Amino acid sequence: MSDVDLVGPANAVKVLRSVRELRAALRSERAAGRGVGLVPTMGFFHDGHLSLMRRARAECDVVVVSLFVNPTQFAPSEDLASYPRDEARDLRLTGEQGIDYVFAPPVEEVYPAGFDTVVRVEGGLTTVLCGSPKHRGPEHFAGVTTVVTKLFNLVGPDVAYFGQKDAQQSLVIKKLVRDLDIPVRIEICPTVREPDGLAMSSRNAYLGAEDRFRALALSRGLRAAGQTVAAGTVDAEAVLAVAGHVLAAAEIEPEYLELRSVPDLAPVERVDAESLLAVAARVGRTRLIDNVVLTPPARS
Ligand code: AMP
Repeated sequence: MSDVDLVGPANAVKVLRSVRELRAALRSERAAGRGVGLVPTMGFFHDGHLSLMRRARAECDVVVVSLFVNPTQFAPSEDLASYPRDEARDLRLTGEQGIDYVFAPPVEEVYPAGFDTVVRVEGGLTTVLCGSPKHRGPEHFAGVTTVVTKLFNLVGPDVAYFGQKDAQQSLVIKKLVRDLDIPVRIEICPTVREPDGLAMSSRNAYLGAEDRFRALALSRGLRAAGQTVAAGTVDAEAVLAVAGHVLAAAEIEPEYLELRSVPDLAPVERVDAESLLAVAARVGRTRLIDNVVLTPPARS
């Protein structure tokens, strides 16, 4: 049976497990003059992932979703072994989105024996917020930039889609692409939230009912801070205090709650330009992150 005989989009996604298969599939797409979009993911899809896929599907001839829980971006103390996975469901969802290819390689395909190379964005971008040695540390981003560089080399996408939910990661990847002249356009898609405001994340699956409720303080705190800025407060300390109070009321001690400039993530004392308000916190045992971009209050 040829592909055109397949009934319904759910059947159409092709799963590629090896670099060889991936290169062969994309070679023929390119030969036919088709533009390629890439959506890198670690799977366990939610609407945030699907929003990236929909955007890619609307804008690109061919869409590749990579599904790979990248071990090099997890510290030994982190949740690699327990990271939520459901490949069968993920493949069904990509089929429903009309994705052409899912690249879901085993770890040895990406990191064969003898693998020795790290691609690292140095400097301030990867040593603050999640990159601070007190938190996930810069090695986390080295893991991300190494695997993303490999994916760019393997897929050769014209455009790649990332989420604002991981704001720092998005800035790091834009810097990587600029510094290394990687010929890909990076598109950042808005954070998708649950109806009550919680930013969607695969890790939300870890939250019990009580922590799920407490976790709302992250988005609520960010929103309250945003309202404070909109009402005219620009002093960083005052803005941070507003979000900090909301977290404290839910008995959440953030790993960090910081205002930083965009795109270089320098500390900000006044919100007089677009600024990133970013938070990371453990709620129970689950580490969550969220952020909003604050714009200075309109001057009358
Ligand atoms: P992950 O599977 O967590 O590595 O995420 C894969 C991609 O989806 C990354 O570019 C994330 O930033 C993006 N993403 C994750 N959660 C959301 C969300 N709630 N809204 C928008 N994009 C998201």
